[in-house]
Amino acid sequence: PAAPFQQPRRTSTGWPIPDETDSVHRMSSHPLARLLAITLVTVTLSGSALAQSAQVQVLSENGKAKVLYEGPEPGTLIQHFKDDATAFNAKKHEVIDGKGVLNNRISEYVFQHLNEIGVPTHFIRRLNMREQLIREVEIVPLEVVVRNTAAGSLSQRLGIEEGTQLPRSIIEFYYKNDALNDPMVSEEHITAFGWASPQEIDDIMALAIRVNDFLSGLFLGVGIRLVDFKMECGRLWENDLMRIVVADEISPDSCRLWDIKSNEKLDKDRFRRDLGGLLEAYTEVAKRLGILMENERPAGSGPVLVKG
Ligand code: UDP
Repeated sequence: PAAPFQQPRRTSTGWPIPDETDSVHRMSSHPLARLLAITLVTVTLSGSALAQSAQVQVLSENGKAKVLYEGPEPGTLIQHFKDDATAFNAKKHEVIDGKGVLNNRISEYVFQHLNEIGVPTHFIRRLNMREQLIREVEIVPLEVVVRNTAAGSLSQRLGIEEGTQLPRSIIEFYYKNDALNDPMVSEEHITAFGWASPQEIDDIMALAIRVNDFLSGLFLGVGIRLVDFKMECGRLWENDLMRIVVADEISPDSCRLWDIKSNEKLDKDRFRRDLGGLLEAYTEVAKRLGILMENERPAGSGPVLVKG
């Protein structure tokens, strides 16, 4: 799919956006781009009402850590990773400089490899430090959680000590609804209320198992235990055919990743549980996956003084 997407993306002001630059950084350098940045910030702050008048059309902001924009071609979107960290249905919120850059890279790495092993995803390619080009899909309103080790809500609900190896991988479904706090639902609820058909549930579970197998092996190879993760799926139409693909993101925001030796948490629990060191943990995951080189400047650390 390279050919149609090689054009540099243009904002509605006509400025091409170069690849491989941090969009937030680049926006501050140009008068018109600065206007765009202000518009983006305004939209970020005040939600959908202002989005109507924004120069860049914000299509979805409900992800809190990400924004979706119109893509350059019909059927494509741009997924922008912000630095916002939220938990407990956005009751807890912080901005962590550089988190979006790391999640964009880590999620790119995972989705690229899933595509390569024949697990269909929405991912096309990364555009720059914070953005990736994706296929537009209709999101199935479910959070699909796969667990290998007891942790988090499973441990709380069933009284199983965190870190206990589960007898087998367990798949759970949560209905995506902020007003209801994403309640856990069964296949009966999903089919009765029409959120997905029985065939789609089968497809989603088959994808979930493949993603879990791939991710478990990937992380095990770099000394990390995949405790659990959340994925989302979407319906992708190609002519009259529809198939279920993996969508959204897969990053330390949506996985529990523990160092094999020390059990140190390398994921969003660092934020949820006020452990600190989130950026360092995400950087460590990226480094181990070979995404960041040893001597690469950690995201968000600013320029390095080379001569005093
Ligand atoms: N998760 C997520 N988004 C959510 C809820 C959960 O990405 O809205 C991920 C979470 O990071 C963990 C897995 O899903 O890797 C299982 O989360 P759990 O049900 O234990 O909920 P939590 O303890 O995070 O509330």
